Parts: sequence; structure tokens; C-alpha cells
Amino acid sequence: MRRLRTDILILGSGGAGLFAALHAQAANPSLSITIAVKGLLGKCGCTRMVQGGYNVALAAGDSVERHFMDTIEGGKWLPDQDLAWTLVTGAIERVHELENEIGCFFDRNPDGTIHQKAFAGQTFDRTVHKGDLTGIEIINRLAEQVWVRGIARLEEHRALEFILTADLSALAGVLLVDMRDGEYVLVEAQAVLLATGGGPTMYRFHTPSGDKSCDGMAMALAAGLPLRDMEMVQFHPTGLLAGAHTRMTGTVLEEGLRGAGGYLLDGNGERFMQKYDPRGERATRDIVSRAIYAEMRAGRTTPNGGVWLSMAHLGADNVRRQFKGMVERCADCGFDLAGGRVEVVPTAHYMMGGVEFAAGCTTTLTGLFVAGEDSGGVHGANRLGGNGVANSTVFGGIAGDAMAAWVAREGSFRVSDSGAVDAAIARAERPFDSGQASDLEAIREQLHTTMWDDAGIVRDAASLARAARSLDALAQRLHGYALPSAARTRAFNLTWHDWLNLTNLVAVSRAIVRAAVARENSRGAHFRADFPEPGELSATTFIRVREHAGALDVEAIPVRFTRVRPGASLLAS
Ligand SMILES: Cc1cc2nc3c(=O)[nH]c(=O)nc-3n(C[C@H](O)[C@H](O)[C@H](O)COP(=O)(O)OP(=O)(O)OC[C@H]3O[C@@H](n4cnc5c(N)ncnc54)[C@H](O)[C@@H]3O)c2cc1C
Repeated sequence: MRRLRTDILILGSGGAGLFAALHAQAANPSLSITIAVKGLLGKCGCTRMVQGGYNVALAAGDSVERHFMDTIEGGKWLPDQDLAWTLVTGAIERVHELENEIGCFFDRNPDGTIHQKAFAGQTFDRTVHKGDLTGIEIINRLAEQVWVRGIARLEEHRALEFILTADLSALAGVLLVDMRDGEYVLVEAQAVLLATGGGPTMYRFHTPSGDKSCDGMAMALAAGLPLRDMEMVQFHPTGLLAGAHTRMTGTVLEEGLRGAGGYLLDGNGERFMQKYDPRGERATRDIVSRAIYAEMRAGRTTPNGGVWLSMAHLGADNVRRQFKGMVERCADCGFDLAGGRVEVVPTAHYMMGGVEFAAGCTTTLTGLFVAGEDSGGVHGANRLGGNGVANSTVFGGIAGDAMAAWVAREGSFRVSDSGAVDAAIARAERPFDSGQASDLEAIREQLHTTMWDDAGIVRDAASLARAARSLDALAQRLHGYALPSAARTRAFNLTWHDWLNLTNLVAVSRAIVRAAVARENSRGAHFRADFPEPGELSATTFIRVREHAGALDVEAIPVRFTRVRPGASLLAS
């Protein structure tokens, strides 16, 4: 095992991780900062995949109060209001920083102001973008800054477990594995940022990048940290449906298509959204996803079992100009987005839930900070399109500032518990020991079916009980899994990493199911067929899940309406 020391260790190189690194270094250039990432820096994670854009109240007539109210109402009053306020106010500073300091260049209006487009669920057109490939612009420019500043990188290094001090009072470091040679690496750090970006890839149809398997949330659960809002998994209504043979199935067709006036049509070619919501196709993601799912269950489907997205009435040239990337992506799969129709299906996109955190991105574990999609509480029951990358960049920057200040104030290198390191290695090594060789692909299939059918867009007590039983059985199979004898090298062993991915996904799926059982109402992304009512808003609680002695404890905690009470508004009437 190799051992390294760094003042600040950042896990993940998405918008949260890269912003944190740059801010921490700017705050104190003498700190040693290391980014450890499962993929290649700048080439992995979901921030790079951001298509639509970035919500920020810049335009005349818009305001942070309006952005805040959209976020709270979209989140069904479940967001932590102070975190949501930090998001909307911090987004203004961060988007200027992206352009003026990081070097991004977003699309412009003819008068030179930043162009902002419509996104669903918002009362103002506030989504800043670079065509429909905004994330590539953001991540490329951030990565260039990180490279040029000489911040240390551990690429293709996978974080496995948090290593605590022997008295369990604080975090001492993180055990990683270098995926290139299979060697274990213990990184001891004064402060660690968890920014591995969640990623609901346990569902049959999903949008996130393949490197995301909820590793950070699984590590947090294993360390006994509280996670909130885990039942809130967002399904994007329009995932491409291109058949089971291609990984393109499930990838997202951006919300701006519906924002620009795109239609959703059932298998008979009829528009159906008005039956479900007066805003039609521009209703929030939860409502549109449920409506599509209802049409699918009623059998009004396209040949592959989804619905149609149709843009042709907006003019093929216009669609081609506005949505070049989307048109090309669809053409790659044989669909004509500009002039014809494309088959779509709801697809698991984002986890509103994650590690509970406070202002300054601190967690309940001394030395551990969290930002981005690994964290919970900013979006509540539903994330507005465009608030995801704002979240990761705003809180990533805050985490960088906060870690630098914390290290100066009270940081120290703490002694890691060597027994904990040995135990963590033994857990990772399990499939190299004797066990039952079985088919990981079959386990993945079962996981996808379980989560899609029984803990997906519509749930009830019976389906969640089925899901819980199925996940227990999958956990057993993974526990007893042995690598085939031909796949026992540790260097670039993707089968081993697949096992690690699935183990984490099952652990986090259990937390999703546990929280979904506990929430006996329907709110935002969480819909219980047996409890279809939203419950009394003023008595809203959020669900906290925590692993304790091998079991999942669950608590319902009242939401504190610190800035605005249900029914009231920050906007002048
Ligand atoms: C297709 C798509 C389109 C989207 N479009 C939009 C949009 O238009 N607007 C919007 O606001 N949001 C959008 N989102 C959501 C947005 O991408 C996320 O909200 C946000 O960017 C997440 O940032 P992050 O830094 O938390 O995670 P990510 O950017 O996903 O980064 C996570 C990082 O952690 C690394 N990692 C994972 N596991 C480990 C491990 N075990 N060890 C070390 N490193 C690890 C990954 O390799 C990656 O580098 C979109 C998401 C997808 C998938």
C-alpha cells in the first residue's frame, strides 16, 4: 500500500471538485491540494454532460427572490431554505467568475448581454448556456485552470472508504485504489471533500456517466453519516429510447426542447400533457415523467414502448440552429429530431438526496466536507433543470474557501486507525478470495428491474417491500461473489470495479427504498400510489436515513421554514 499526505484531498473532478480546488488554492496558495478521481480529470462525471445550462437571475425583471421562490416551490417546500438562498445568490457571483476568471464564454444576445433560455418549472427565462453543450465549456475551462496551477492529480484512482481515527471522532484519510495497477493508496489529509456526484445508475434507464455509481454516498453511509431526501430521485422526462442494444438509450434530450415549444405525443400521435397539467410540456420534470409513465402503463406507446418528442412544427432549420448537439445525437441513433419525431422515455437523472450538510459544506464528521450531487437538502423534492450545475459550482467554491479556512484554523493530520485500513482492504479484496463465481451482468439486470419497476416513478408499500427483498438478495449474491479465475489481476480489472460499483449501488438503493417506505405521502419526485396526497405543507418533514450497526435507521425531521412559510412569497404581490 502506498501512503500519501496532502492538506486537502478532493474526491471527484466535476464542477464541485474543480471549483473547490481552485478556491482552496486561491485562498491559501501554500496548501497542498490533491484531486483524486475515478476517471481522467476533465473527461468524466456529469458536469461535463450538462447540456441545457445554468440558472442564474441576471436579467432585468428577474431577481434572486424569484429564483428562490421557483426553487422552493419546485422543490415542494422541502429544500433547506438557507441552502437554497445560498444557491440563488451564489449563482450570480459564480457565473461571472466562470466568464471573467475561468474563461468560459456563454451565448450572447445581439446587444451583448448573456442569452438566457426557458427551462421548465421556472417563471423567468434564466438559463445561461453555451449552445446545448454547456458542460463541456465549463469543465474544459475549469480543467485548464487546474492544470496550469499545478494542483496534484490522482487520476484513475477510486476512493473506496473513509478511514477514521481509532476513537471514531474524526476523518483521518481515505483509502483509494489506483485502478491502473490495482495498488491500494492511503491518502491522509487534514480536510477531505466528497464530490463524487451521486448518480442514480441503479435504474434501467439513466442519464449519468458510467463512472458514477453512488460511491460517495455509499462511503458516507458506511461511515454512519446521515443522508436526507434519498427517496427523491429525479426522472428526466425525455431520455432517448433507441433500443436495448445501445448505451445511448436513456441519455437525455434536454429540457430546452420542451421549453422552446416541443410537443410530447402518445403512440397515436396525440398531445397528452394538457390532461395532466395546465403548463403542458413545460410542467416540472416530476409531473411530465409521471404523465409519460401513465401513458406507457395505459399502452399508448411508440414501437419501443415510450412516447414521441416532436419538434417539427417549430421549423426544422430553427431546431437545427438552436439544438445542434441534440439534432446530431439523435441522427447518430437514426432519428430526425429537427423534422421528424424521436422516441423518448423517462430516465433516472439526478438524486436530490445526499449527505446532510451545513453552511460551509461541513458534515457531521470532523474533517469531511461535501458539495454537489453527493449532498442533500438544496433541491428538496425536485430539482429545477439548470439548478444542478449551479449547485455543484456554487457549493464547490464555498467548500474550497471553507476547507482552506478550516485547515488554517483547526486543521491537523490525524492518525488513521490501521485496523480500519486493513478491514477496508479486506472488504475490497473479498471477490479475490474464495466465493461463488456468478454473473455480474445478471445481478445488474436484476437491480435495474427492481429499481425501475418497484422503486421508480410510481411506488407503493407492496412494490417497495418487493424491492427491499430483492435488494437483500442482491447484497447476499454480491457478498458471496468471486471473480472468475481468468479475471484475477488487480491492474485495470474492470470486472472487479463493476463488483465495487454494484455493491455501492445496492447499498444506496436500500437507502432509497427505506426512505421511500418512510414517506407516506406524494411530493415532488416521490409518488406513492397508496398515498397520493402531498400531505399538509406546513407540517412538511424530511426523511433522514443513517446506517447503524448494519441496519438503516430512519427519522422524519420537521422542515424549518427559515425564510418563507408555505403559502407566502418573497415576491411583492
Ligand atoms: C446528461 C446530463 C445532462 C445534465 N444537464 C444539466 C443541465 O443542463 N443543467 C444542470 O444544472 N444540470 C444538469 N445536469 C446535472 C449536473 O450534471 C449535475 O448536477 C452536476 O454537474 C454534478 O456535479 P458534481 O461535481 O457533483 O458531480 P460530477 O460532475 O458528476 O463529478 C463527479 C466526479 O466524481 C468522480 N468519482 C465518482 N466516484 C468516484 C470515486 N469512487 N472516487 C473518485 N472519484 C469518483 C467522477 O469520476 C467525477 O469526476 C445534467 C446531468 C446529466 C447526466
